[in-house]
Amino acid sequence: MTGGVVSSLGKGLASAALGSLLQARGYSVRICKLDPYLNVDPGTMSPFQHGEVYVTDDGAETDLDLGHYERFTGRPATQKDNVTTGRIYLSVLQKERRGDYLGATIQVIPHITNEIKDFIREKDGTADFVICEIGGTIGDIEGLPFLEAIRQFGNEVGRNRALFIHMTLLPYIPTAGELKTKPTQHSVKELMSAGIRPNILLCRADREIEREELDKIALFCNLDEKRVIPALDASSIYEVPLTYHAEGLDEQVMNAFDIKESKTPDLSKWQEIVRRVKDPEGEVTVAIVGKYTNLTDSYKSLNEALTHGGIANNVKVRLQFVDASEFDGHEDDIVNALKDAHAILVPGGFGARGTEGKIKAVQYAREHNIPYFGICLGMQMAVIEAARNLCGLTSASSTEFGECDVPVVGLMTEWVKGNEMQQRGEGADLGGTMRLGAYPASLKAGSKIAEIYNATELSERHRHRYEVNINYKDQIESEGFKFAGMSPDGKLPETFESDNHPWFIGVQFHPELKSKPFDPHPLFVSFIKAAVKQSRLV
Ligand code: GLN
Repeated sequence: MTGGVVSSLGKGLASAALGSLLQARGYSVRICKLDPYLNVDPGTMSPFQHGEVYVTDDGAETDLDLGHYERFTGRPATQKDNVTTGRIYLSVLQKERRGDYLGATIQVIPHITNEIKDFIREKDGTADFVICEIGGTIGDIEGLPFLEAIRQFGNEVGRNRALFIHMTLLPYIPTAGELKTKPTQHSVKELMSAGIRPNILLCRADREIEREELDKIALFCNLDEKRVIPALDASSIYEVPLTYHAEGLDEQVMNAFDIKESKTPDLSKWQEIVRRVKDPEGEVTVAIVGKYTNLTDSYKSLNEALTHGGIANNVKVRLQFVDASEFDGHEDDIVNALKDAHAILVPGGFGARGTEGKIKAVQYAREHNIPYFGICLGMQMAVIEAARNLCGLTSASSTEFGECDVPVVGLMTEWVKGNEMQQRGEGADLGGTMRLGAYPASLKAGSKIAEIYNATELSERHRHRYEVNINYKDQIESEGFKFAGMSPDGKLPETFESDNHPWFIGVQFHPELKSKPFDPHPLFVSFIKAAVKQSRLV
């Protein structure tokens, strides 16, 4: 899957939707992302620029498109499903230093392209179909080795085993009153100059594309008319599998691979999700008090998980993004900003900016009995709030924000993963050095969190450096709270809940990463249920 004309066309979503259609036909699917940038992984990239960092069970920090893949196919993403130019080069250069190339001159072709092909080929046999999305836009210098690699790959496996789907844009020009096909023609030409002839074109447009235009594209781009497929804007992302199916995408994929006997896809699951999204019985407002509020992609999985909670409760969830740094020093503003919220959520985050505002948001939620959900940093904020305002530890804070006398949240320098002790130094590298990936927790029987999970064990994904300091546990618990979830060795608090509040829960992990529209995460189902209750009270 390649993209042309402009970035942000939704190739990730298209790959995920195609994956779900192939699954609906009874096939197993694996989706991976090849990113042409030089970062070894997106873990060090600003969510402002790149959107959320998606974490896998095996602890990889990956592109947010892997979240789409997992949400649409239900297949847990892994470290091996995302690669960047940086990682490819790192691996080639390490081999070069080791002497693995036996004195050869190392070049983009064949060494880099081989490494890319190996990344694709190692998926062989793990699924019936492997969808590889190439990040970036055709024409980018960075993307060239990837195009060359997939060209070679297509040639090596042969016609019936590889197919190229190219996604393009038909911009609407108001003065002409038309959708324009020229950029698509140029983009295909560019792709052909790299030796790749697309088998299917997915044409993004903000309105209906006339048959005439589709035929014109087919003629100029040398494609069967049925293989030029409109991909119009949808009102919900969960409608995309249905609209692609209606336009014949999966049928054309079958056809291109010459697969004649495939069952009619069962799309009832998607139909039911779309029905619920389009016809909710009510609406609730959730305030997300965070920092990266001007690029909502930085909370991609969170937004989706809240939507899933809404789907489960048959309500629409309106997200109100509130920039926490605006409250620093302005108590009244907080009431104004949060007065319409039926529930308040403080998501994950890094750095001191905005944290005082987040702590005030926690206090507001706690004192007004408004459902509160704190995720990762959001749990740390809740613990600091309780320490300051209920335990009288007025200078309680996190060492992440500078030296402090009462470090109720502190840097973790060692912890247990499996049977191994993991250690980090204070000045260690920033990339890939957090507590990352799936860790288990034991839940106290009878606690709210255990009731929500309907279990006393859980495994959830983590991405953080700091931990609630167990030395303050008893003092905070004596004020009507419970650290009901703890790491199996009893050292790291994993969850936090209030005994005196309708719904006040913090978790050190990221439950949003595992929520799916057809399998909504229990914490989000319960949180939205509490928001619905709250909306009936006001
Ligand atoms: N900054 C906090 C930490 O590193 C929280 C991280 C997060 O919210 N993902 O512990």
